[in-house]
This record gives sequence, structure tokens and C-alpha cells, in this order.
Amino acid sequence: MIESLRILLLEDEPDHAVLIKMLLERDKLAVTLRHVMTEPDFLAALTAFAPEIVLLDFRLPGYDGLSALAAMKERSIAVPVIMISGQMGEEFAVRALKAGAADYLLKPNLQRLPAAVRRAVKEHQQQQAFLLAQVELRRAHDELEARVKARTEELELANSSLHQEIADHRRTEQDLRDSRTLINAVFASLFGNVGVLDQRGEIIAVNEAWQRLGQDHSCQLHRVGIGVNYLEVCRAAQNGGEESAAAILNGVVGVLAGTRPEFIAEYSCENASQSLRFRIFVTPLKRPEGGAIMTHIDITPHHLAETQVQRLSQELAHFGRVSMAGELAGALAHELRQPLTAILSNSEAGLDSIANPGALDVGELGEILKDIAASAQHAGEVIGRLRSLLSKGKSELQSLALNDVVAEILPVCRQQATLNSTALVTELAPDLPSVRGDRIQLEQILVNLIGNAIEALKAAPRGERRLVVRTHRPAPKLVEISVCDNGPGIPEPLLERIFDSFFSTKSQGMGMGLSICRSIAQSHGGRIWAENNPDRGAIVRLQLPEWANSGPPPALPGSAATLRTAPPPTLSVRK
Ligand code: ADP
Repeated sequence: MIESLRILLLEDEPDHAVLIKMLLERDKLAVTLRHVMTEPDFLAALTAFAPEIVLLDFRLPGYDGLSALAAMKERSIAVPVIMISGQMGEEFAVRALKAGAADYLLKPNLQRLPAAVRRAVKEHQQQQAFLLAQVELRRAHDELEARVKARTEELELANSSLHQEIADHRRTEQDLRDSRTLINAVFASLFGNVGVLDQRGEIIAVNEAWQRLGQDHSCQLHRVGIGVNYLEVCRAAQNGGEESAAAILNGVVGVLAGTRPEFIAEYSCENASQSLRFRIFVTPLKRPEGGAIMTHIDITPHHLAETQVQRLSQELAHFGRVSMAGELAGALAHELRQPLTAILSNSEAGLDSIANPGALDVGELGEILKDIAASAQHAGEVIGRLRSLLSKGKSELQSLALNDVVAEILPVCRQQATLNSTALVTELAPDLPSVRGDRIQLEQILVNLIGNAIEALKAAPRGERRLVVRTHRPAPKLVEISVCDNGPGIPEPLLERIFDSFFSTKSQGMGMGLSICRSIAQSHGGRIWAENNPDRGAIVRLQLPEWANSGPPPALPGSAATLRTAPPPTLSVRK
């Protein structure tokens, strides 16, 4: 049952209105009926009463059902309308339905009204529901479309950013490929045989030069390739007695552990036909995992040239010593004359004793013979020193006391000084630490410096010529020997130049003495230079590092320490 259905009835005949109300109530339709008879009332009731169904009389005085229907449409009032007419005719029905009426009734058939009302309301409700459903469907459809659109936009955005990412990725890959190609090209073109070690010392990459080394030489390096642990190789070489292996092992371990910023060393490598010399550089690989870059450079030609230079400089040094010996010949002859004269006079005295057997004093003869032996020993020492000086022997580094070196050459130099009216004074520091050096070479420096000083002092008046040989410790771990004179000194601009080869101010000078002194000083890890005294004359200073080790000096690769020296000459004296 429809509850309180609001019905607006436009009817000019009140009886009909009563009838309609009665018919509806009889059919148990609860209705609120508003009956209007004129157009203004009808239009007012449309909004004020808000009917749920409208019943329109087709024909009224001054108004009609179709106009009322049109007025409802104008106001967009979409409630069902049932058109009621007193006339029969198809035209009425068609016009009513066309105008939008839900049904039509003939007044003689009004008993059908309740059913028509029910149906019209029901249809209207269904229509409303359908419309609502349609609206809902439309809304759902729109919402779906909006969602699809939003999702599509999202996907498009994602798609385009994916495309961008793919493009970026491709570009990064290309950059990576380019940089890898560049790294490979740089690695391949690197000078020297380059290998990369990981943190544990395993070789993880080698360049072409390293690989080629195996084809060019049959030395150790080519057997060491990717996957091999270089530290193990060093250990094996160390156990096999290879001299440089331990130092290289320590150096590489130090770089890998980050305890040293780099390591440089040299080592030799023998193959069937030649001896090769390599210089090895190890630097840290700058990446979080650590490692090292190791470069082996074949310095064989350089090393051969160096050896050649060393040989030539030794020959030159020898030549220098020979010419020095020539200069010292006068002094030596003088020094030899004294023991030889003593031997001669002692021998004559001995012969005299033997010629007179009655007065022979065996004790005295023994003393004479002892004197002869001592003089012969002295002469032998003088000749021995000369032979040492002339010796072509190569350098031999040993622990030396500088005061002993001075004492060794002093007699010869003193003679030379005496011949030139020069007072030679020594000021030797006691307890001077030892140095690591070659005795003959250091003697050569000293003889040179003393010779130069004596030569320079010729410009000074005879009674004033003074020369001091001094030893002392200028600083911890340093030992100094200096030769100081009160001659004319050295012009300031020449203080450095006098150490150049072939620089001499003497007409007969070779200009090699100080140059040889400097190369000897440098090969001893020391330095030599000249200064002018504040008052008069020059002083030449040689400083050498103190040798703290008690064992043999460490052999430096390619240094003079690895060369052999002939034993010093000795003279046997009959006792
Ligand atoms: P040389 O003695 O053959 O000239 P050196 O190399 O021994 O060659 O010396 C180079 C030059 O240094 C000498 O010619 C001299 O001019 C200068 N010189 C060296 N020592 C002294 C000195 N004590 N006093 C003044 N000049 C010196």
C-alpha cells in the first residue's frame, strides 16, 4: 500500500474530485489530495504541495491538461501525470502520451484510476530507480574512467621515467665501457711491466708489456702471472738465496699494509744469455679494498752505462792517484832515504863487528840487526802506502776510524809540507765514531785536500804557512774531517765551481782532484764543500755519516760495496 500519496488534482468539476477521492480511498490508497481548479492554483500547488502524482483534466475552462503538463515540464517537475478526459478518442490518448503523460483515463472509466495511479507511481519509481541506477552507473563509469585515466597517466609517467632510466642506464653502461676501454688502453700503453696486486699480494692484472716479457726473456718475472701470489714468489726467491728478494718482500708487504707510501728497489735477473737489471716501483692501489700497482722497468742499458761510468771513474781516480804519487815522489824519496841510510850505516857497523871477531859483541850485533829490520819495516810501509795509492783495486767499504786514515797518510804529507816550508798541524777528536768507507778512497781525498792546501800556501810568506787537519763531530751521527789553510783563499764565485771536472786555476793543474773527491764523498753518502775562513785562507770540509752498525755494511744494489778489491800490499821483512 502506498502511504499518504500526495496527489494534485486539476479538475473544474467538484463532483469529479469527490469521486476520484472516494475511488482512491476505496481502493485503500492513503492519499493526501489537493484539488485545484485554476491555472494559478495549480502552478502554486506544484511547488507548495510538491505532489507525487498529478491528475489533470484534459479540458478546463480557460486552461487545459496539456498546458499544465507543459508548465510542469518547464519547471522540471518530473512526477507521473495521468490525463483524465471526458471524451473518447484516439487523438486524445496519443496527444496525452506524446506530451509525457504516464497514462490516460476516460471519465466513464474512472474506477480504473486506483490501478492506474498505482501503476503510474510504480513505473515512476522504477523509472526513478532506473534513472538513479543510470546516474549511479554513469558515475561509476565516470569514476572508473577517471581512475583508468589517472592510472594510465601514472603508468605513462612510470613508463617514461622507466624509459629515462633505461636511457640513463644505457648511457652509464656506455660511459663505463668507454672508461674501461680507456683504462685498458692506458694500462696496455703504460711504460714498463705493470702488474696489479690485490690486498693479499695476488696478481689480478698485468699489462701487455709484462706478458711480452715472457717471450723476450727467460727470467723470473714472466713466470709470474695472474693468479700467482707475488709475496709467495718473493719468499721462494728468498729461500733460493736471491739477495734482493727479502728487501722486495718487505717493501711490497709494507705498501700493501699501508705502512709505507711507496717502495723502490733494484734487482738483477739472470737468463741464459745476459744479466738483466730491473727497477721496481710499488705504489698503493687507491681503492677501498687496497692492493698495489707494481712496475718493473728494465734498466739494463742504463745499468750497463752506470757500471761503465763507475769503471771509468775508478780508472780516472786511479789516474789521479798516479799523478798524485808523481807529485809526492820527492817526498817519498826523502822519506825512504832515512830508513835506507839507517840500514846502510847499520849494515856497515855490523860488517865492521864481524871483520874483527876478537871484539865481536853478539848483543850489540843483535841490536844492529834489529835496527836494520825496523828500518826495512819502515821503508816497506812507505812503499806499501805508495802501492796502495797506485793500486787499481776497486772500492771496498768497511768500518773506518777517520783518525787512522789521517795517521796513515800523515808521514807522506808531512814530508811534502816540510819541503814547502809549511807547518802541518793535526787536531784529532778522541773517541770519534767510525764511518763506513773505502780506506784508499778516503786517503785519496785527504792527500788531495792537503796537496791543494800546500799548493795554495805557496802564495803565502814562508814563515806563515800553516795547515790544520781536523776531525770532529759537527752533529749527532756525523763525522767531519777538514783541511784548513791560511793561504789566499778561494774567490767566492768559485767556491762551487772548483768541484767541477777540469776546473783548475793552476797552469799544470788537471782540475780533477776535487771533482774526484766529491764523487767519492757522494758514493760514501757524505758531502764535501769549501768555505773561506773569516780571517784568511780556505777550509774544505768532508762530512760522512756515522756508521752505527757493528756487523758488515749493507750491500746496496749496484753500489761500490758489491765490487771486489785487491788485498792491500804487504812487504815481508826478515827478522
Ligand atoms: P787542480 O789541483 O788540478 O787544479 P783540483 O780539482 O784539485 O784541481 O782543484 C781545483 C781548483 O781549486 C784549484 O785549481 C784551485 O784553484 C782551487 N783550490 C783548491 N783547494 C784550494 C785551497 N786550499 N786554496 C785555494 N784554492 C784552492
